[in-house]
This record gives sequence, structure tokens and C-alpha cells, in this order.
Amino acid sequence: MSLDWHSVDTVLLDMDGTLLDLHFDNHFWLEYVPEKYAEKHGISLNLAKKELMPRFNSKVGQLDWYCLDYWGKELELDIQALKRELQHLIALRPGVETFLKAIRAAGKRVVMITNAHPGSLSLKMETINLEPYFDRLISSHHYGYPKETPAFWDALHADIGLDPARSLFIDDSCSILQSAKDYGIRHNLSIVQPDLRKQPRGEQEFEAIEHFEDLLPVPA
Ligand SMILES: [Mg+2]
Repeated sequence: MSLDWHSVDTVLLDMDGTLLDLHFDNHFWLEYVPEKYAEKHGISLNLAKKELMPRFNSKVGQLDWYCLDYWGKELELDIQALKRELQHLIALRPGVETFLKAIRAAGKRVVMITNAHPGSLSLKMETINLEPYFDRLISSHHYGYPKETPAFWDALHADIGLDPARSLFIDDSCSILQSAKDYGIRHNLSIVQPDLRKQPRGEQEFEAIEHFEDLLPVPA
């Protein structure tokens, strides 16, 4: 993959499905939460999934979808505590640390931008501490707008003084990459296999990376 690193000052990185294996989140929301919901309401797992999936889907792309407090109230479950029970499934995708070291060494500014709730972000950083590699870790909940909206990018610009023409953004969501591109972010890359236990995805609208090593070396 050819990326003109000399035209990049700032690297913006998504967390779930990009730096971290999406298996944790998929398993948590699609299996573990329905299981706990079924137990709580004394219904079958199948029925719980049937009830929950439309409720989840109705919030896709909105901040509530990522909000532990919202789902905690909606489902009457302690989402944060349940996440902690699955903490052992939180894992890095391959090549991430090598890549982060390389971009730091090359003097790039490195900023994590995630739609994950601050509670989810801190649980993940407590499990796998990526903080030393980053200048900033930003949850879109702090701005009040998800990455899918132009308001997020305006808030990010006001916060960190972003030059979109000299920025690289990597995210596993094509709707989010589109939102970044619309804002003017010059280099936008997707991820071939966000969930390492699922099949790699086929052709996408955005160029996608298989391994972070594909972006190396990073010239100083
Ligand atoms: Mg993601």
C-alpha cells in the first residue's frame, strides 16, 4: 500500500474494530447481553435476541447506540459490570503496537477518536494500555456528537486544531470514513477484518488495510 507519509502530520485512529479486535464488542452485544437479558426476564435466549436486535438497530449511528448509561437504563442491566466480566476478550489486532511505535518515532501527532463511551474506553485502556502512544484519547461523547456527523468534526477541529489536508484517518466503519472524507480528511483507510473471528470483508468503498505493517515504514 502506498501512502505518502510526508503529507501526514496527524494520525487519527478509531479504537474498536481498528486497533482492537471487534470480537469483544460483537460477542458482548450480540450474545452476552441477550443472555443476561433473557435470564433477567425469564425468557428464552432466542426471544431475547428477537426483542433486542430491533432496539439496537434503531440506534445505529447515534450516540445512544454507544452509550452504556442509555442501555443500562433501557435494559435494566449493569452494562459496565457485564463488560468487565468479559474483559479477558479485549484484544489488540495484529501489528498495532509496531505501527503505533513507528508513527510515534516518526514524530506524528497521534489521536484516538472513538464513539465508545468513556466507561468503555477506560475499561479497554485498563486492559491494554495504549495511552502512552497517544497525544489524546477522545470519546465523541465529550463533544455530544458521534463521528458520523459533521458537528463531530467541527468540534474536533476546535479542540485539537486539525489540518484535514494533512491528516490520515483509519476506521472500520465506512459511514464514518465517508463523514471524515466529507469534512475534508485527505487520507481515509478502512480495515479488512475488524472482527478476527469473522471472515475478512470483501471490496469496500474505501481502501482497506489487512495488516498495520502494510503502512510501514513511516519515514521521519
Ligand atoms: Mg470501529
